[in-house]
Amino acid sequence: MELVINAVYIVAAAFFIFGLKMLGSPKTARRGNMLSAIGMLIAIVVTVFSKSIVTWEWIIVSVVIGAVIGAFSARLVAMTAMPEMVAIFNGFGGGASLLVAWAALFETSTMFLSVTVILSVIIGGITFSGSAIAWGKLSETLPSKAVVFLGQRFLNTLVLIALIVSAVLFCMDPSPESPYLYAVIGIALLLGIMVVIPIGGADMPVVISLLNSYSGLAACAAGFAINNNILIVAGSLVGAAGIILTNIMCKAMNRSLTNVLFSGFGATKTASKVEGEVKPITPDDAYLILEAASNVTFVPGYGMAVAQAQHVLCELADILEHNGCEVTFAIHPVAGRMPGHMNVLLAEANVSYDQLIEMDDINPRMNQIDVAVVIGANDVVNPAARTDENSPIYGMPIINVDEARTVFVLKRSMASGFSGVDNPLFFGENTRMLFGDAKESISAVISEFKP
Ligand code: NDP
Repeated sequence: MELVINAVYIVAAAFFIFGLKMLGSPKTARRGNMLSAIGMLIAIVVTVFSKSIVTWEWIIVSVVIGAVIGAFSARLVAMTAMPEMVAIFNGFGGGASLLVAWAALFETSTMFLSVTVILSVIIGGITFSGSAIAWGKLSETLPSKAVVFLGQRFLNTLVLIALIVSAVLFCMDPSPESPYLYAVIGIALLLGIMVVIPIGGADMPVVISLLNSYSGLAACAAGFAINNNILIVAGSLVGAAGIILTNIMCKAMNRSLTNVLFSGFGATKTASKVEGEVKPITPDDAYLILEAASNVTFVPGYGMAVAQAQHVLCELADILEHNGCEVTFAIHPVAGRMPGHMNVLLAEANVSYDQLIEMDDINPRMNQIDVAVVIGANDVVNPAARTDENSPIYGMPIINVDEARTVFVLKRSMASGFSGVDNPLFFGENTRMLFGDAKESISAVISEFKP
């Protein structure tokens, strides 16, 4: 039986790997997600036949409860709240690994087992509480600003030392009721909170991706603790994928991971105040300029998700193309509130993948673009990231819409974006502000095109 189970695990692992590969492109991502989910279902079903399963009835009840909660939350969650959901699900993954590893101690307690258990408990605990804080910051249940205070790093170092000492003491005399185990659980949970509070809300996507990687490592350690091969494989894949994504996001913001984790982003720097003249336009002015343009690039951001403007945007793009205009969509890697946020929304509106252009490809030819239309984006087009050394977002690569011949910015007010800093783009010589909800503004422009 063990042989059959392990053979099926190899099939499940292949499903995971092919699924992950397919997630790399928006074209195949849905199928990749489905493939990985099927792999996980196969892995769970076959695990129920394992000899170490004490009660398969409880497992089935848990699977049903988990599936119902998962299906409902996935259906009900607003697209804009997706990152929070990912954060909290990561946290549950870490918490589950902590509990699984703890439970393993009730069977035997060898040296090897106690090391794997304690690793799983530490990483799982940090992931659980860290993700809960990340969820709070993103959903604004907690203040999203970085919390920094004097002696913070010293205090964190003390907590870390206490954690290591308790872990070593536990490993010297492992038991499921060891007071050192309780201490490790408590301190790991505390450390998760301590390491995430000094990180500002704008860096949360990177933190979530990193915690996602941690949840994989915790699962991997739990896999060693209960001697389950597929948990080891799945955990390693999540751990590796999470760290790769973390790296990609850091590069997209031109910052090192150390800088993201330890600089208290946004807490110490104050961007220079921006003042100037704003030039508002009406939808019919916008129509006249767009009608005459020979190439237009749309730059979507978080506001497009809020306004759910992707469908009308796609309609406007079609109209412009019929008018003989070349239309592209410039996508910033951290536009919106999760990696790939804009790609998902535009794919939902059936925008062709060939029209999506990455930041590095659009920037060199931005000065040849007639009109760059910014739809609810702010931080990702903020030129202060290039010019203002005091700005918290200084150094973050942006889409250089200010270099286009004309820029339209569609937003409701002069309010700042996620990072809370002013945007000199709005006062640019070639910038026109089209105030209002993005969907309503685009619909108004579309109606100007219709006879
Ligand atoms: P921003 O958050 O910088 O700006 C969004 C803008 O949308 C706001 O200024 C807002 O202005 C406007 N807006 C909101 N609702 C509407 C609406 N209904 N119609 C029109 N405009 C609207 O978004 P960006 O996409 O430019 O930047 C993303 C930011 O989020 C970055 O700082 C990034 O680091 C961070 N982040 C990214 C994540 C990711 O992985 N992609 C995850 C989490 C954070 P107004 O209120 O005036 O309308």
